[in-house]
Amino acid sequence: MAGLAAARALRLQGWDVVVLDKGRGVGGRLATRRIEQARADHGAQYFSATTAEFRKVVQELLADNVIAQWEPAQPSPADTATDQLHYVGIDGMNAVAKALSRNLTVLTSQTVVSFRVDGSQWLVETEAGASYRADALLITVPAPQALALADRSGFMLSTANRSALSAISYQPCIAVMAALHQPVSMPNAIRYETGDIAWVADNWQKGISPGQPSVTLHANADFSRTHFDDDLNAIGRQLIDQLPDLIPAASISTVQVHRWRYSLADQRHPSPLLVAEAPLPLLFGGDGFGEGNVEGAFTSGLAMAKACSADL
Ligand SMILES: Cc1cc2nc3c(=O)[nH]c(=O)nc-3n(C[C@H](O)[C@H](O)[C@H](O)COP(=O)(O)OP(=O)(O)OC[C@H]3O[C@@H](n4cnc5c(N)ncnc54)[C@H](O)[C@@H]3O)c2cc1C
Repeated sequence: MAGLAAARALRLQGWDVVVLDKGRGVGGRLATRRIEQARADHGAQYFSATTAEFRKVVQELLADNVIAQWEPAQPSPADTATDQLHYVGIDGMNAVAKALSRNLTVLTSQTVVSFRVDGSQWLVETEAGASYRADALLITVPAPQALALADRSGFMLSTANRSALSAISYQPCIAVMAALHQPVSMPNAIRYETGDIAWVADNWQKGISPGQPSVTLHANADFSRTHFDDDLNAIGRQLIDQLPDLIPAASISTVQVHRWRYSLADQRHPSPLLVAEAPLPLLFGGDGFGEGNVEGAFTSGLAMAKACSADL
């Protein structure tokens, strides 16, 4: 979201922008998976739109039938505090990223492994051996990955920049998705305060999985941290077996599990971006900067684009 928001804003300002993403598809944690005839959102579940800039994008996405309003049966404390509307992708959260990437040059399966100054430009290299030149470089991967990339590149971050990036941290999250034989009886989503499970959502009621019912379950941060490297199939079963009344074993057709090393940013940089001390424009952003959610990632990307244009 941060990268796409920045790219869209820079394109509008006349920049020639290339987005490189290591994923097979676009979207990062705006992630939707197909299992049998079902769809399941396994990353972000829904999003808010509190700023004028993001609301404008939301209006466009509503008009294009990419998103719909959706309210969780149990709002989070943050939801209640802001009393805002919430949205989901009609075909899943990944559809939001797909829509935002229209008319942009987004190259997927491009893992960036290094960047350095070469002459008067940045030279960015990928694992597959491709290289790209740019006047400005915006890095929107989770902060621990950004630090690792800078180190691998031999790029000397200033002490202040390094400590700012090092201070950002993320909770892990194990996500379990189950395609079902028949719908289950539950509210559209349930938030748990105790136990190993933090969240269960019914993707069928959410409207993203009309072809076959499915549910998404998120383990809480403690459980995810403790079991992060365990056998995923066993962990998936162990979690889903904790909800026999909600998701009876007989209703389950296929279970898949995804491990998010970086899910929600629990320690964040206070401002929406970090301008690095470098000979050419180099900006860090993403959801580790600012609000720490889908909207925060968008706001960060927009702020990066503004700073980039102001810099050059
Ligand atoms: C389980 C879970 C539940 C969540 N629930 C919600 C929610 O309900 N509401 C909400 O608002 N937010 C939620 N979030 C958070 C939300 O998904 C994120 O805040 C937001 O999507 C982050 O966007 P981003 O652009 O900062 O990062 P990302 O989406 O992580 O994008 C970073 C991109 O960088 C790419 N990348 C990484 N390394 C490289 C490399 N070396 N080379 C090239 N590309 C690279 C990745 O492939 C990825 O596409 C949730 C997240 C998770 C995981």
